[in-house]
Amino acid sequence: MGRLVMKFGGTSVADIERIRNVARHVKREIDAGHDIAVIVSAMSGATNQLVEWCREASVLHDAREYDAVVATGEQVTSGLLAIALQSIGVNARSWQGWQLPIATSDAHAAARILDVNGEELTKRFETRKEVAVICGFQGVHQASGRITTLGRGGSDTSAVAVAAAIRAERCDIYTDVDGIYTTDPRVVPKARRLDKIAFEEMLEMASLGAKVMQVRSIELGMVHQVRIFVRSSFDAPDAIDPRATPPGTLICDEAEIMEQQVVTGIAFIRRVQDKPGVAASIFGPLSEANINVDMIVQNVSGDGATTDLTFTVPAADYDRAKDTIAKARTQIGYERLDGATDVAKISVIGIGMRSHAGVAANAFRALAERGINIRAITTSEIKFSLLIDEAFTELAVRTLHSLYGLDK
Ligand code: ADP
Ligand code: ASP
Ligand code: MG
Repeated sequence: MGRLVMKFGGTSVADIERIRNVARHVKREIDAGHDIAVIVSAMSGATNQLVEWCREASVLHDAREYDAVVATGEQVTSGLLAIALQSIGVNARSWQGWQLPIATSDAHAAARILDVNGEELTKRFETRKEVAVICGFQGVHQASGRITTLGRGGSDTSAVAVAAAIRAERCDIYTDVDGIYTTDPRVVPKARRLDKIAFEEMLEMASLGAKVMQVRSIELGMVHQVRIFVRSSFDAPDAIDPRATPPGTLICDEAEIMEQQVVTGIAFIRRVQDKPGVAASIFGPLSEANINVDMIVQNVSGDGATTDLTFTVPAADYDRAKDTIAKARTQIGYERLDGATDVAKISVIGIGMRSHAGVAANAFRALAERGINIRAITTSEIKFSLLIDEAFTELAVRTLHSLYGLDK
């Protein structure tokens, strides 16, 4: 049997009982003969609390210190899981990002993994049959020696990076749902689980708001050809046959998917909108501040001399984005800066759109019939996104889910 990476998210390690449950999942795979690297998240809610404390201490805080604070959640759970594994007779050792190391860029709070040292892990697999329990979400910027974090949801990316580094045969993402659904099953009860989804579609779903997997984890999986399997950690660990295929979703190459539907899924995100006077020079300062901008729409105004520029940023970056643009006001030369936090972006995704016309037009019609106003539209080869008022999010998602035949 080969090597496996097993990643457990926040709800899966929410308390000691669940950590024991995770230990049993790991033991099952060890007993089946696998070498295992486990990636853990912080206990559910822990990272939110740490982020909140940073904000409370100062709204515009030093990102290096933010990382020093928020990386601690994973330190707790990796140690606890190692203890729980040892207590059931499994040889285990915890690893923090700086110890392995997981080397990253210095983009604090949004660092990119540059390199994972998997050698020590594989050596210990061979000589001691030792399970590695690795802190997700964190790494180290080696030149400065400082702890970094990978952005919210970053443990998924840690898992895929470790899987690539140790050439794991599969990267299992254990979470609180049993796979990837056509849309968030907590919002649309009629959502269906997909057996397989192509990397490209998952990349769009993730970047467009399905928080089930961090975007960068999918990019990495695609580049390094890591087979990612999303499954539930709540199934009884001992009832699972490690040789059978459990319920879940495989994220894989398009070529592996036989039957293609036009629309695979719908993602949505509650985002914020900014609306300053025009200037391309705004995007420079924003990217220097590591703020992702998307849905850029420019309209020519009545007088022909000025234009409006509308774009969205993640809700968490809203205050920083406004601050950054306000500071660059003389350089940009805008007249007015408006912002709104009550907008949502709905996206429809499917590789099949490449060969089908009129997919978006049907959506516009269906939403108009329900009185939902569309504020901005963007499209690409395999998706389109609509910006609408947040209050209509659920209605819009459900409407589109039925329209494209995704209901059960
Ligand atoms: P973890 O803590 O294990 O990393 P997350 O909360 O980050 O888990 O991601 C799992 C959640 O993602 C699910 O509980 C679900 O509500 C949400 N989600 C959003 N879109 C989807 C989707 N298309 N399929 C499955 N889950 C989704
Ligand atoms: N604990 C981190 C977060 O909540 C990373 C993760 O869970 O993936 O964002
Ligand atoms: Mg997550």
